[in-house]
Amino acid sequence: MKKEKGLLLVLSGPAGVGKGTVCGALRKEKTAIQYSVSATTRAPRAGEVDGINYFFKTREQFEKMIEQDELLEWAEYVGNYYGTPIDYVRETINKGHDIILEIEVQGALKVKERFPEGVFIFLMPPSLAELRNRIVGRGTETEDIINKRMTVAREEIEMMEKYDYVVENDEVNLAVDRIKAIVTAEHCKRERL
Ligand code: 5GP
Repeated sequence: MKKEKGLLLVLSGPAGVGKGTVCGALRKEKTAIQYSVSATTRAPRAGEVDGINYFFKTREQFEKMIEQDELLEWAEYVGNYYGTPIDYVRETINKGHDIILEIEVQGALKVKERFPEGVFIFLMPPSLAELRNRIVGRGTETEDIINKRMTVAREEIEMMEKYDYVVENDEVNLAVDRIKAIVTAEHCKRERL
């Protein structure tokens, strides 16, 4: 079978649904999947490290990245910019390795325009009440930000039908197993082409 390009996997869904936790659990399983590190203008949370969790940028630096076409996609989310540096994504898939982007919905839809061959996975909360509990439980956001995030989440859930797969995050290990099954299935599908 001929060597394929790697898969561009996009894991998306409302903030608080557990994209970070699911990605972290997937990482621990030591699959061959690579992870994209996003740029953001949001301030680091306790324990976050520049270059590992995000590349933390000023608005000026971020706008320069947009101007110089260094981002595969970017979005403004609850008052901050978030974006995916394009070079690492390109290099990774061209080497035949899979890469996963953990991004919000507007950005995912922009990636779909540029890379329709990507694999778009929507991580779904068991319910909106559970989503709110998870955001509140994280203890890092103010009430005002929590309400803004919930408003965005309701809009984001309506976009679910544009994705290739919907994965319920009822339990992290089950969600990870479902994602691994999707990756395996997509490889089988593409190797046949
Ligand atoms: P947080 O501030 O909680 O780390 O992230 C807020 C939201 O931004 C989450 O839904 C997260 O997935 C999303 N996000 C993180 N990186 C990117 C990115 O590069 N592009 C886009 N469009 N969204 C991102």
